[in-house]
Amino acid sequence: MNSLLDKCNKLGLKMTEQRRIITQVLSESKDHPDVELVYKRASKIDKNIGIATVYRTIKLFEENNIIEKHEFKDGRFRYEEVPEEHHDHLIDIKSGKVVEFQNEAIEELQRKIAEELGYKLVDHRLELYGVPDKAKK
Ligand SMILES: [Zn+2]
Repeated sequence: MNSLLDKCNKLGLKMTEQRRIITQVLSESKDHPDVELVYKRASKIDKNIGIATVYRTIKLFEENNIIEKHEFKDGRFRYEEVPEEHHDHLIDIKSGKVVEFQNEAIEELQRKIAEELGYKLVDHRLELYGVPDKAKK
């Protein structure tokens, strides 16, 4: 399944074979890859794909709001397909692993904070940074 390709088609973006491959890689990557990693995965499918193409394509997708850019404090930009349902991220600072979570109490609290400040909340980003807690494993 490649929902990103569907979105591109709906937007009327011109889809070359290489762009198609990049949508496939992004759709299948659940680990929030950076450009280098997308490039690595895409070039396994088609070794003629250049990193410049990957950069340009990712930029295009980002401008069209179908992928989201994250900067998890490690100096690289990482991407994911804009999710159907909102989630937040916990970043393991030892391994760089990204864990997705949803928490209704936090969502509610954020709405409340915005409201108390005189705003209606339309979006937010929450990132937690942690190290594995050995006692819990
Ligand atoms: Zn995510």
